[in-house]
Amino acid sequence: MESLKPKIAIIGAGNVGSTFAFSLMISGLAREIVLIDRNELLAKGECMDLNHGLSLAHPTKIYASGFESCEDADIVVITAGVNRKPNQSRIDLTKENVSVFKDIIPSILKYAGNPILLVVTNPVDILTYMTLKISGLSSNRVIGSGTVLDTARLKYMISEYCKVDPGNIHAYIIGEHGETELPVWSNATIGGMAIEKYCSVYTQLKDAKNELSEIFEKVKDSAHQIIEAKGATNYSIALALVKITRSIVRNENSILPVSTLITDYYGISDVCISIPSRVNMNGVDQYLKLDLSDQEQELFKHSADSLKKIIKTIDI
Ligand code: NAD
Repeated sequence: MESLKPKIAIIGAGNVGSTFAFSLMISGLAREIVLIDRNELLAKGECMDLNHGLSLAHPTKIYASGFESCEDADIVVITAGVNRKPNQSRIDLTKENVSVFKDIIPSILKYAGNPILLVVTNPVDILTYMTLKISGLSSNRVIGSGTVLDTARLKYMISEYCKVDPGNIHAYIIGEHGETELPVWSNATIGGMAIEKYCSVYTQLKDAKNELSEIFEKVKDSAHQIIEAKGATNYSIALALVKITRSIVRNENSILPVSTLITDYYGISDVCISIPSRVNMNGVDQYLKLDLSDQEQELFKHSADSLKKIIKTIDI
C-alpha cells in the first residue's frame, strides 16, 4: 500500500509551504515530500527539522531539491511568491507574482508529467487562472485553495456563536478569496435547519441576519488581524491544504469551495473563482450550480467582474 501514496512537491518553503509540509508529514498522506525554494538554505533547513521528527510520525521521504524533483510528482502545491509590500497596489502585487509564476510553471512542467497543480499564492484566483493558461493543463487539474480557508473560519466563528459543532454547519463563502467574497446564507444550514431559523429558535440572537453579517465581516478581517499580530497566517491554511490534498489522494469526493474555472455560471465564464466543487483523484470534476438569491447572484457577479478586470491588465 505504501507505494500507492503520492509524491507531493511544494514550491515555496516559507511560512505556508513549510507548515503545510509539517501538517502533511503528520497526516501520513504522502510517500515523498519535496520542498523547492529559491532560498535553498531555507528549504534544506526546514527539511532537516522535519526529518528529525520522522521517527515520531509516518515514514515519508522528505528532502529539499530543485525543480528536477518535480519528476513523478502527483500533486504540486505552489506557495512561492512575494508578499504585498506596504503601499503596494493589488495590481502591482499581481504583476510581480504573475512574473514569478511565468518562471515557476514551465519549470514544474519541464519535469512533472501530468500533475495536479494546487495554487495557494495570492491573489490566488488570478494566479490559478494564470497557471491554467501558462500550463495548458486541463482545467480540472488546476485548483486554487480559494475560499476553503475563509469557509473554515466562517464555520468556526458560527460554531462559537451558536455553540454547535462546526461539523454540523453547512455554510460556504464563495467568490474571490479576498475583498469581494460573499457568504451564501440562502443555502446555509445547521443540523439540516436553515441557519437564520436555527439562530432565531435556538440562540439568544435578536437579529440573526445582522449578527450573521457581523460574523462574516469578522471572518473577512481575520487574515489582516493575524498578520498584524504574528506576520503571516500558516496553520489554518496548511490544514485547508491537507483537506484538499486528502480529498485528491483518497478520492474522497469532498465538496470544497476551491477556485476553479467556471463556464456559464449565472452567465459568467472564463474566470477562476470559488464555488463548492467536488474534489477527487481527477482534481475538480464538478462544480455545483447553487440556487443563489438575487442579491447573492449580484454579489457573485461583482466578485467575478473584479477578478476579470485585473486579469485584463495582465499579459499572459
Ligand atoms: P513567505 O514569504 O514566507 O514564503 C514564500 C517563499 O517563496 C519564500 O521562501 C521565497 O523564497 C519563495 N519564492 C519566491 N519566489 C520563488 C521562486 N521563483 N521559486 C522558488 N521559490 C520562490 O510567504 P508565505 O507566508 O509562506 O505565503 C506564501 C503565499 O501564500 C503568499 O502569496 C500568501 O499571500 C499566500 N497565502 C495564501 C492563502 C490562501 O488562503 N490562499 C493563505 C495564506 C497565505
